[in-house]
Amino acid sequence: MKNIIIFGAPGSGKGTYSDEIVAKYNMGHISTGDVLRSEIKNGTELGKIAKGYIDNGQLIPDELMIDILAKTYDALPKGQGVIFDGFPRTIAQAEALKTMLAERGDDMGMMIELVVDEEVLMARLLNRAKEQGRADDNEETIKKRFDVYRNQTAPLAEWFEKEGIRNTFTWTGAKETMLSNIFAAIDKNA
Ligand code: AMP
Repeated sequence: MKNIIIFGAPGSGKGTYSDEIVAKYNMGHISTGDVLRSEIKNGTELGKIAKGYIDNGQLIPDELMIDILAKTYDALPKGQGVIFDGFPRTIAQAEALKTMLAERGDDMGMMIELVVDEEVLMARLLNRAKEQGRADDNEETIKKRFDVYRNQTAPLAEWFEKEGIRNTFTWTGAKETMLSNIFAAIDKNA
């Protein structure tokens, strides 16, 4: 199985679709947000550093993030393919991912971009706040995360386009439709 990068704004469904893809294709899964939240929960040094950024809706510095990503990747079983969820979020991270994978004889595989209107994203995130109580799912922090996404992460879509691996899926209101389109693209790429 080839690697997959799942890309999109906060609330676009990266975690949800990753879970579906992992269940169907039995891949490895790295959610950098989950890795950081678990470090915070365990009270590690890294967790303490990460908390300040996350609570403020900002990105963790690239150097630190790239290091965490490589360690997490190396701890996963080889040959099953990995879905990268929430990474890369900057051009520097994307370049580092490409190099890190090349050094291991792997590549990025395909990128899946989820496009969802901002009002829908906001409604979903406020709803998630009620259900899961994530500290960064409040209106003020969500707005900051949207700004960070627009300024630092969204330009990466073009970077993936140039790499020739961008596959865009636009939300039209039905999860099942999204899923069958995504699965079809993965099968075509396999
Ligand atoms: P997520 O669960 O993917 O929405 O991530 C939650 C928060 O974790 C983000 O708002 C960032 O503060 C931090 N984070 C997750 N992934 C990254 C990354 N690749 N680079 C920098 N910060 C990240």
